[in-house]
Amino acid sequence: MPYNLGDQFTPHHVLVNYFQHVAENSQNVQIIEYGQTNENRPLLLVFVSSEENLANLEAIRINNLRLAGLADGDPDLHSAKVIVWLSYSVHGNEAAGSESSMQVIFDLATGANGSSEWLKNTVVIIDPSVNPDGYNRYTNWYNQVSGKLLNPQGVGREHSEPWPGGRVNHYYFDLNRDWAWQTQIESQRRIAQYNKWLPHVLADFHEMGSESPYYFAPAAQPFHKYITEWQRQFQDTIGVNHARYFDKEGWGYFTKETFDLFYPSYADTYSMYNGAIGMTYEQGGGGYAGRGVKISNGDTLRLADRIAHHATTSLSTIEVASVNADSLILKFNTYFTDSQNNPPGEYKAYVIKGDNPVARIKALCTLLDRQGISYGHTSATSASGIKYGSREHTNFDISEDDLVISAFQPRAVLAQILFDPVSELQDSLTYDITCWSLPFAYGLEAYAATSKIDVVSGYEFEASNTDLEKNAYAYVMRWNSLENAKYLARALDLGLKPRFANKRFIVNGEEYKAGTVLFMRQDHHHIPSFYSLLAKLQANGANLNAIKTGFVESGKDLGSRSYSLIEKPKVLTIAGDGVSSYSLGQIWHFFEVTLEYPITIVDVDDLGKVDWSKFNTLIVPEGYYSLKSMDKIKSWVRGGGKIIAIGSAVSKFADKEGFALKKYAETSGEGDAKKEIEKEKLDTRLHAYSGSRRRNISNNATGAVFEAKVDTTHPLAYGLGHHYYTLKTGTRSYEHLTDAVNAVYLQDELNYFGFVGSKASAKLVNTIVFAEEQSGRGSIIYMADNPLFRAFWENGKFAFCNALFLAGN
Ligand SMILES: [Zn+2]
Repeated sequence: MPYNLGDQFTPHHVLVNYFQHVAENSQNVQIIEYGQTNENRPLLLVFVSSEENLANLEAIRINNLRLAGLADGDPDLHSAKVIVWLSYSVHGNEAAGSESSMQVIFDLATGANGSSEWLKNTVVIIDPSVNPDGYNRYTNWYNQVSGKLLNPQGVGREHSEPWPGGRVNHYYFDLNRDWAWQTQIESQRRIAQYNKWLPHVLADFHEMGSESPYYFAPAAQPFHKYITEWQRQFQDTIGVNHARYFDKEGWGYFTKETFDLFYPSYADTYSMYNGAIGMTYEQGGGGYAGRGVKISNGDTLRLADRIAHHATTSLSTIEVASVNADSLILKFNTYFTDSQNNPPGEYKAYVIKGDNPVARIKALCTLLDRQGISYGHTSATSASGIKYGSREHTNFDISEDDLVISAFQPRAVLAQILFDPVSELQDSLTYDITCWSLPFAYGLEAYAATSKIDVVSGYEFEASNTDLEKNAYAYVMRWNSLENAKYLARALDLGLKPRFANKRFIVNGEEYKAGTVLFMRQDHHHIPSFYSLLAKLQANGANLNAIKTGFVESGKDLGSRSYSLIEKPKVLTIAGDGVSSYSLGQIWHFFEVTLEYPITIVDVDDLGKVDWSKFNTLIVPEGYYSLKSMDKIKSWVRGGGKIIAIGSAVSKFADKEGFALKKYAETSGEGDAKKEIEKEKLDTRLHAYSGSRRRNISNNATGAVFEAKVDTTHPLAYGLGHHYYTLKTGTRSYEHLTDAVNAVYLQDELNYFGFVGSKASAKLVNTIVFAEEQSGRGSIIYMADNPLFRAFWENGKFAFCNALFLAGN
């Protein structure tokens, strides 16, 4: 490299070249490319061990899976090697991680610090850049704006990263919230490798505010109760070893604060729930720090310091794993045997009813396959437990076509974490969501059983009919899953003219519910390729039924006007300063990757230039920005435009002239709320400062699942069933609207899962989840709970499609 490590940031391709160079010149290093990012950058894993181990790498891997009960054959404890996974800069602008990975590979390849001894019983797996697109966004920008001389003045432009920043990947997703959901290509590719290797120790390298000293685990409360005593103890063991090095150098550090172990989608929790010791390391620095920045004690925090600290904990982690290899391997083995024979949680099996929409069950199975969680069916005919959404213990029937996930499997803990109806919190101070149970997320009717159910592994889906009869009167597609919405999007993109049913109908003895999509021959006389386009969709799995007559047995005849034409959405959304990059990224990713449907993204400053006649749908993402040209937008809506406001973006329309949305339904409500706030301020004047964060818990609702009532007659609710489980990620709330339709909403009695503070829950009574307001020929759809949050709420994504395709037609 033409510079010393720490003198400047390394572009991603140079980082890749460096690792390849080391691999070519060291007998202790092998490298694989395990995938590519959205921007086609390589994702690398680098294996470092003794020559002998590298020659036996595949045998070591298989033996390790045997230790976990995840490969056939008996494990050999004596030949087993300890596996350490080092994961750098998942947040791309926390770039000192990737920079330090080069120091680490250099030290390991040259045997520095006695490391060649460690490599005899240890395989180190380095992921030098977990998020290459974000890392490149940051380093490329930084190298453009910084000069030859280091400038540590925090006010300088090189310390102020422009929107959207390098933390996130191409689609602005935080990859360290995506381990359990694997919505992003980087996560999918990486975790496939992770599951092939199942490391014993995983360390994840981050950065935080520049003033903070170094953080390493042991973590803070809350701990998930399925984390074993051994896992906690070994976090301590690792921490103590790091402290030795930091004490010697006089480097500041802290442990047991701030970073908890609960939400399963971080690197540390995810690996904990897979039998490893998961560690988070946080260096002070981040995007703001650049190559160097003045901090308040007068010192300059330099990139070289940040690299030295991360390199130190990296090597110390390997050392402590190597020194304790025997007990780590043994405990790893015990962890999986225990999990399989005696799963820790109250629920021992999860039963997904076979009469749920097939596509929803399939989507769930795709996720389970990615997690390596096994599933199947059973010959048992009943069990006892609880129905999701209820808290009452009950007996329930099981049928042959029910999908059953038994907790008696090696990945018991992960399965229980993802399926338990409620996760018990030992402490409520967590900064992330507290419920994520998959049957809620996927909109599945399901039960959690309290006793073992024997499962025959494998679950067959009926092959969908790929033939399509010619010359039918209509072709219909049921509307109950995201999968249906993908086919509808495809059909619209192909120029077809679908309609949807506003009420149920029965034809040929088959019932079709409201929302059912129809392709009528009468609408396509001018499209000669009508049949061949539909046949193509059918061949891909659209599951269309050909209906020969429009004369129905119940409901409206198919030729009637009560089947509304679905207007093809011409969609615009907003990017730029102030827009939440997460929110925009969720929208962008949903359209491009999930629906494969076009969307135009306009910079917030260019909204004034938009020719609104070219669009009929505006999606308003969350963020702190103002919607300029509001008058133009309002008249566009009255002329037939549709606004979909997502999450907190709903507030851009609250209490504004021309919109029905009110924070409080009656003005007295607003007065009461203000009085309440004043009273609380007075009451708490003399509370000790030291407990303030904890006392605030009663106002907290960082994320919980609420059962919402559904108006099944409104298009926003088609296909959802009678209840919708909504993921609420804050306390922001709007009372039921007048002069608008409250399609999905909370009532007096709240039924929720996860942690919600008492004051916070009181504010959520009688509030909206999704509502629609008509304005002239157009409409405004308020989705107060972001249905696209982290892209993992499958049923939320489906509800969003109701807003996109059906509502307002
Ligand atoms: Zn981070």
